[in-house]
Amino acid sequence: TKSHDQLHVFFFPFMSPGHQIPMIEIASILASHGVKATVISTPQNVSRFEGTINRDDQQLINLLLFDFPSAAANLPLNCENLDTIPSRNLSYNFSKAIMMLQSQADDFVRQYQPDAIISDLNIPWTAEIAQKYGIPRLVFHGTCCFSLSLSMAASLHKPNVQVNSDKEPFLVPGLPEPVYITLAQMPDRFFGNTGLEEFFQKFIEAERHTHGAVANTFFEIEPEYVKHYEKVTGKPVYPVGPVSLFNAKSIDVADRGNKPSVDKDRCISWLDSRKPNSVLYVCFGSICESAESQLLEIALGLESSKASFIWVIRDHRHGSGEFLQKDFEERVKDRGLIIKGWAPQVLILNHPAVGGFMTHCGWNSVLESVSAGIPMITWPLFAEQFYNENFVLNHLKIGVAIGVETGLAWGEEEKNGVLINRDRVAKVVTQFMNGNDEVEGMRKRVRQFSETGKMAVGQSGSSYINIGLLIDDLLNQKEKRLSE
Ligand code: UDP
Repeated sequence: TKSHDQLHVFFFPFMSPGHQIPMIEIASILASHGVKATVISTPQNVSRFEGTINRDDQQLINLLLFDFPSAAANLPLNCENLDTIPSRNLSYNFSKAIMMLQSQADDFVRQYQPDAIISDLNIPWTAEIAQKYGIPRLVFHGTCCFSLSLSMAASLHKPNVQVNSDKEPFLVPGLPEPVYITLAQMPDRFFGNTGLEEFFQKFIEAERHTHGAVANTFFEIEPEYVKHYEKVTGKPVYPVGPVSLFNAKSIDVADRGNKPSVDKDRCISWLDSRKPNSVLYVCFGSICESAESQLLEIALGLESSKASFIWVIRDHRHGSGEFLQKDFEERVKDRGLIIKGWAPQVLILNHPAVGGFMTHCGWNSVLESVSAGIPMITWPLFAEQFYNENFVLNHLKIGVAIGVETGLAWGEEEKNGVLINRDRVAKVVTQFMNGNDEVEGMRKRVRQFSETGKMAVGQSGSSYINIGLLIDDLLNQKEKRLSE
């Protein structure tokens, strides 16, 4: 007889917050369905999420620890997560360190004999290991099926693109609807001189030996793209999100992913003192870097917008906020809360005082905004963020663009300097936060998506059902393997 606790799944999260947070949540979800879940990571990364798993009210998640090869990869000691590398130039070394973990992982698989592997896209050698031990590998992409589909179609079409400039929109053929992008928005330019392309080839290669995909999205928000992506890859896709909603009850969202650098209660009482929908939350994710001159324009734009805001300044080079004019914080103290470091994002987004999110369009941030029913001001920076922006603006119609046209190359942020000036920041923020029919329409729509997302993760919702289907699929694979 089949039962879930016969299934043991290994999880390999990529060591970057935007990848690690949702993967840990997926592991908890499967554990709560009786699957034996083992997460393989490093001591420093485990310390970030240990507090949110293995609590009394949850199923146990097993942990296995990698010895991270910092020295061998020429990385500073204790640099076990992409958000702690001191410079973009070390991204290559970081990816090299990830590649060096293969033999340790191989030992773990040989010793514990899991039935399946769920691996981040950025860890390609899991495909080799899965093949070697005859178990299925599922890939976790960390973005939506719209962006995955667009990414594939755009790369295929790129050699045939005929435009006069890299900012001229062209139609990407082969998608369920007409989608226009520009060359300046395509992710490949963002590698800069890092040499990271080398690894991306391996990711694509690994897909060939992959059984299917698990995605942090939900069917109802993009049914045609879930189906399209399944069709073009010829493999099952399991949309199991929004994962932040699944665990909302069991995980203290303030501690999700990292230790906040602001007191949770202070943050809440500050928000409590604000009117509903009056606060703009500004955050560019966990690994962004911006030119100091650009950060200053954001500061002055927010100031002259007269809106209330929470602004998260993550960039470790600017973590101390030194680039800010000395009296800036003093000048805005009545309506601005500046968080230098890690913010309890999901907690903030779900406070009734928050009415907008200025986001870099990292997929987790977009989905957390959707889940909280908050419309967005989109400010993409790199990777597939312009595709996510496209989804928010043109497909879901729940955001306005700040107007960035060109993605940043890694390590060249300072060279790019100011892409959006203070006047533009002030104008867009003022119009958005003052509200008008268009913004109210967006608010209404995103609230509906939020409701649908909550239903998706509830009993008999689509994501809940997909978890069952995923487990059945893995159990069938196991049975087939044992009978061979
Ligand atoms: N996050 C957070 N506090 C911060 C910055 C980020 O909690 O100060 C979380 C955010 O809620 C999201 C993740 O980190 O879950 C960032 O992922 P996303 O895909 O938005 O962007 P990335 O950081 O990968 O660029």
